[in-house]
Amino acid sequence: MASHADRDHATWSASASERLWNCPGSLALSMDAPPDKESHAAAWGTACHEVSEKCLRSGKDAMAFLGEEIRTKAHWIEVDEEMCETAQEYVDYVRSASEGKELLIEQKFSLADLDPPFDAGGTGDAVILSPDDGLIEIVDLKGGRGIVVEASGNKQLRTYALGALMANRGPWKTVKVTIVQPRAPHKDGRIRSEEFHVTDLLDWTQDLMEAMHQAKRAIDFEDGPGEEFVRLFLQAGEHCTFCRAAPTCPALSSKSLEVAQTYFEPEGGLATPPAPETLDMEQIVLVLDHADMIQNWLNAVRAFAQDRAESGFEVKHGESEYMLTEKRGRRVWKDMSEEELAEALSKATGEGVTEFYNEPKMMTPAQVEKALGAKRKGEIKELWETKSSGYNLTRKDKTTRAAAVPPAQKFFQPEQEK
Ligand code: SF4
Repeated sequence: MASHADRDHATWSASASERLWNCPGSLALSMDAPPDKESHAAAWGTACHEVSEKCLRSGKDAMAFLGEEIRTKAHWIEVDEEMCETAQEYVDYVRSASEGKELLIEQKFSLADLDPPFDAGGTGDAVILSPDDGLIEIVDLKGGRGIVVEASGNKQLRTYALGALMANRGPWKTVKVTIVQPRAPHKDGRIRSEEFHVTDLLDWTQDLMEAMHQAKRAIDFEDGPGEEFVRLFLQAGEHCTFCRAAPTCPALSSKSLEVAQTYFEPEGGLATPPAPETLDMEQIVLVLDHADMIQNWLNAVRAFAQDRAESGFEVKHGESEYMLTEKRGRRVWKDMSEEELAEALSKATGEGVTEFYNEPKMMTPAQVEKALGAKRKGEIKELWETKSSGYNLTRKDKTTRAAAVPPAQKFFQPEQEK
């Protein structure tokens, strides 16, 4: 079983359907964008999917994996209680919905038989086949708490459903798509579904194919991403959230600035937002309607600028200069195996090796110090070190902290200078 972190995505992946459909130029712009940096939230979701899959395949409950560490593209994620609860809610639903039916876990599908203009497909979290009822159900786990996902009219789920129909030929009449999103409250509950007739999905497929061809036209557009490209193919909106092109996208930046500048007064060369009490209700609602989009764009620009700084480039224009500072350090045990550490702690303190565990995990330095008491905490001081977990991008004239050496430069420094 390939880990969730190692899976490749199709050019038109079901999970990106909403964005690629709403903004036909997004695929073309993303092709030249730098690769995604996996966020911690995305890594958490990947780990949660992995735990869920292990449960369904092994018959175990999620708590069996508590404390395990799961490697994702850019992080090690610890399986905590919240992840276990999230995974378990999905696992319980899938187990009960698939009782007496056929369950396919993480089924990969391709839409190649529809002759799309590029490779298109995805992987359904769970597909449940019930030929006696003519019912095929697709269940999708959403681990996030920030974006509440609707089941109704959901293009990602419909693409999964289409793929599942093509991969599992049968007497299907009804398609059911279900979202399990335990961490985000929704008026229809944490588990919500939509059902439709197979013929509705086949009608919808024609629209999907037209959306793909429009994306292909954008890729083939000869004049490049100029004004005409923006007008014909780019459409900014909430779907911009996970777009790789977001930091440099002209449509998203102009839409964000358009909303922001409608109410921002230039003052001393800087745009200053007006006090909320000076806005009327129409203005307030307009800003609220676009708040997520603007925030996502700001986040994308910040992440892009930080990435540039970490690669050793200057982030500077005129008087404004940004630099990297190290994030506050976190105490961790020095690099050694768990057994070596337990032995070293036992030797340093005279306590038994089992005293340093919060089963099934090793205690942290702070937990061991607490257990020993304030007077004895010096006994373990040689065994831990402080490690920064990364960098912040800070405006140079707004901090007294020292600039950090960008990772790209550290890499090329002689050993003693690091
Ligand atoms: S950021 Fe938004 S508007 Fe720009 S390409 Fe991506 S989806 Fe389209």
